[in-house]
Amino acid sequence: MGKKQIIIIVAVIAIIVGGIVIAKSLTTKPSALALLVCDSCKASVTQKIPVDTKFPVKCGKCGAQAVYRGAQFKCAKDGTTVAVPMKDTEHMVEGATQKANIVEDILSKGGLACPKCKAKMLPVAELPGQ
Ligand SMILES: [Zn+2]
Ligand SMILES: [Zn+2]
Repeated sequence: MGKKQIIIIVAVIAIIVGGIVIAKSLTTKPSALALLVCDSCKASVTQKIPVDTKFPVKCGKCGAQAVYRGAQFKCAKDGTTVAVPMKDTEHMVEGATQKANIVEDILSKGGLACPKCKAKMLPVAELPGQ
């Protein structure tokens, strides 16, 4: 095998490996289906987002920087669903500030009341349709 042929083989391998690396970097951005809720206008949408998304993100409807992952609550009586933004809340408990998730907060108060029939609503799976 001549020197020229070896150089050509090495060049071809380099091009193939380079192509694979570029193709991987374009296709392996991890994303997941998530329920998103705007805390400002209450709009909710289920869509694929990159897993490393930092919340809150900007709302496509009202423009507020107030979109969080959402938790869905469902009425056991009539099936009405309400999406709640899962942001952290702060409370004063015995003089000290405590952080809690808004969903834990709702559950500790006995769940949400259905906007239609006032029955108790309970959380459903975080990612509907999966
Ligand atoms: Zn909004
Ligand atoms: Zn209801």
